[in-house]
Amino acid sequence: RAKAAGRGGSQVFRPEMREQTIREGRLEQELRAALLRDELRLVYQPIIELSSHEVAGFEALVRWQHPRRGLLGPAEFLPVAAESGLAQDIDRWVLRRACLDMSGWQRQHPQARVLSLSVNFSAEHFNAPDTVAFLREVLSQTGFDPQHLNIEITEGVLLGQPQAIGQTLRDVQALGVKLHLDDFGTGYSSLSYLHNYPLNTLKIDRSFVASMLESRSSSELVRTIVSMTKNMNLSAVAEGVENQEQMAALEALGCEFAQGYYFSRPLPLLEAGQVVHDLNGRRQG
Ligand code: C2E
Ligand code: MG
Ligand code: MG
Ligand code: MG
Repeated sequence: RAKAAGRGGSQVFRPEMREQTIREGRLEQELRAALLRDELRLVYQPIIELSSHEVAGFEALVRWQHPRRGLLGPAEFLPVAAESGLAQDIDRWVLRRACLDMSGWQRQHPQARVLSLSVNFSAEHFNAPDTVAFLREVLSQTGFDPQHLNIEITEGVLLGQPQAIGQTLRDVQALGVKLHLDDFGTGYSSLSYLHNYPLNTLKIDRSFVASMLESRSSSELVRTIVSMTKNMNLSAVAEGVENQEQMAALEALGCEFAQGYYFSRPLPLLEAGQVVHDLNGRRQG
């Protein structure tokens, strides 16, 4: 193996790099085929309204039913998808499928509370020139009410050209769709974009929720984010709530919504619907 020569260390060829390239190339081909063969699946994680302890909505999360490797989570294929231009195709499949699923579920449960649907958009997808047109098309094809659709973006989306991004955000909101900033606090977190860009909700990253009972600085951070959302007329969703103590702490801070394994893992649609039945109780009629 070549020794790292001076500052060129990162450019030195290592056999593992070639193996990784081959592995990623194969994964990319399989992923392209997966889209055609309909191997992607959706699971839905309930989002709980803390004032009522009812399910207020679902977040759609993508999975890949791989023919040999079994059910894969997004961390195993979204990075390759992003590099190969497939992220947009996956997000669009997810949006259409989730709108169809939810329209269908709601039609079959006419007494149930109308649920919101949250769908994740990658930066690559959000910044594509025809994203708003595509959203409009899916909403009209599926009949899903735009008022109940949330698009989740991460802070990375907001790093590009401010004029173009601002325009896309406003165009999405003009459809009636809401914008949720995912994993809030983990990215480049410049408070200026809360001021400059139209957003509806901050999703407090689960790393802060995970440490809020042990760490004073984490709990102060969560408190600050929650009170900031109130002052700015935004909503807050706490991610990754895993126990009753965290839920109680978030309730005490006045956090509006929560999501996490304590309430429910992400589940296939029918099982997620059962959680709605269990928690929203009598309203199911
Ligand atoms: P995210 O959007 O922040 O989604 C929340 C992730 O946290 C999900 O992981 C969920 O299963 C997990 N989670 C929920 N509650 C808990 C909890 O109490 N404890 C812990 N430890 N984890 C919890 P998942 O499904 O593996 O998704 C990971 C990420 O992949 C998502 O993070 C999102 O950024 C991305 N992703 C998933 N589906 C899509 C998609 O359709 N399009 C795009 N662009 N990204 C997606
Ligand atoms: Mg999300
Ligand atoms: Mg999230
Ligand atoms: Mg997260």
